Amino acid sequence: MDSQVARSITIVGGGTAGWMCAAALGHFLGENTRITLVESDAIGTIGVGEATIPQIRMFNQALGIDETDFIRATGATFKLGIEFAGWLRPGHSYLHAFGDVGRDIGLGAFRHFWSRAHRLGLARPLGDYSVNDLAARAGKMHDGAPLTNRNVPQMPHAFHFDAGLYAAYLRRYAQAKGVIREEGLIVAVDRDGASGDVTAVRLADGRMIAGDLFIDCSGLRALLIGDTLGVGFDDWSHLLPANRAVAVPCASAAPLTPYTRSTAHGVGWQWRIPLQHRTGNGRVYCDAFLSDDEATAGLLANLDGAPLAEPRVIRFTTGCRQQAWSHNVIAMGLASGFLEPLESTSIHLIQSMIARIMTFGPTCRPAAAVRDTFNRQFADEMARIRDFIVLHYWANQREEPFWQACRNLPLPASLAEKIALFQSAGHLFRDQSDLFSEVGWLQVLVGQGIIPATSHALAEAVSEADLAGWLDTLHALFSREVAAYPTHADYIARHCAAPSPKGLVA
Ligand SMILES: Cc1cc2nc3c(=O)[nH]c(=O)nc-3n(C[C@H](O)[C@H](O)[C@H](O)COP(=O)(O)OP(=O)(O)OC[C@H]3O[C@@H](n4cnc5c(N)ncnc54)[C@H](O)[C@@H]3O)c2cc1C
Repeated sequence: MDSQVARSITIVGGGTAGWMCAAALGHFLGENTRITLVESDAIGTIGVGEATIPQIRMFNQALGIDETDFIRATGATFKLGIEFAGWLRPGHSYLHAFGDVGRDIGLGAFRHFWSRAHRLGLARPLGDYSVNDLAARAGKMHDGAPLTNRNVPQMPHAFHFDAGLYAAYLRRYAQAKGVIREEGLIVAVDRDGASGDVTAVRLADGRMIAGDLFIDCSGLRALLIGDTLGVGFDDWSHLLPANRAVAVPCASAAPLTPYTRSTAHGVGWQWRIPLQHRTGNGRVYCDAFLSDDEATAGLLANLDGAPLAEPRVIRFTTGCRQQAWSHNVIAMGLASGFLEPLESTSIHLIQSMIARIMTFGPTCRPAAAVRDTFNRQFADEMARIRDFIVLHYWANQREEPFWQACRNLPLPASLAEKIALFQSAGHLFRDQSDLFSEVGWLQVLVGQGIIPATSHALAEAVSEADLAGWLDTLHALFSREVAAYPTHADYIARHCAAPSPKGLVA
């Protein structure tokens, strides 16, 4: 037997991270590995984290999860992108929609042609050339081959789901795969005197749960990676100053929108996540500019329907662990770090960490090069997402002191270079570690008011008349397609409505 292979894995924490990890390990490692998850009912979970990005579908597919079943069980709705309302200035709005925008011509990226047309006054807003954007704004949903013309791209989608129901769904799945659940409060952690590795966690009632490898999914507490091993935390508050959120669910209101809405306010922003049975809402802010009471009052004044629970304040620090893997502990989810929820990246980061564990193989005594590479990949991924989120805050034209302060934030060199490249003839290049594609960056750069100063040579080669005619044709093609789609509510009613949405309780 290979002594490095972990035969016994203990997952500490049963939130979204813990149960996603348990489900995946249970599925892929099966009977040869003993997998135990410890969670505390007394502590509970963070209870937010309900918007995803399209990669979640790969997770479901890899685990053989039936999507219709998953949607019904979690009260999920479809998400075609995120609307950013008021982020550039009050009254302005754009979408970071999933999927492609426009169409490239040969080696010429669509953005080059659009930028030139925009400067000439010939272009519609960028989103008018995205099927996802058009469908989101029209409240439509469709999955599969185009209905009107095979040249129309398919719409990628993600989901909004109930976090509590999702954890419960994955728990049933994981336990069916043999994962053992232990409920109890961890009060102590045992370590090997020589290696410093974690050997067991001890519960308040005296139970001891051992393991070869420990996955720290204990949330913001970071019980193993932080408290026990003392791995440092890179604090990114100087780049992303929001450090509080207040969250509250409310009654749903029609129409059922197929996108997450992020609305900028005088300080921070508010999320709106529509589910089948309720709407999730929250205000993200910085306590140096807004008190908890003010944020709560602002949130309650901007709901679609009656609040369904008491508002709950969550404190956080943006940043990440200096190592996600230390000794025989791998941190995942909030224990590994947190970038605020603006682009719904945290659940994806859990998925990405699970994929990384599978790629490297769950070992308890890795070679230094293996652990270093693992940690570098994690750090690079976090830094690229951080840059993307900073861009939304930094490139604003709002007048309030909070937003003026955001304009004066120091830009990471990697982001400053990205912006400078784009400003010069629309250059965009995707690093291997970048979660977001050129098209994602394009939508946010343009949405936040950054337009290339000069045209790309390939776009200059097209006549103005041809450019205008081609853009009109694309828009007409995509609009006709979207007009053929059912509404989001009708689509859900037809394909995947929860049997009793009002009865969905986490
Ligand atoms: C305001 C906010 C909004 C967010 N919105 C989004 C979003 O829209 N999209 C997205 O992708 N992500 C979002 N996130 C992130 C998302 O919520 C998390 O990534 C996700 O919920 C995973 O959390 P977790 O499992 O790491 O932690 P938690 O849910 O906090 O779970 C921690 C677990 O550890 C257990 N535990 C802790 N200490 C002990 C102990 N001593 N003994 C036993 N058990 C213990 C707890 O009981 C719990 O089971 C948001 C986060 C915040 C703060």
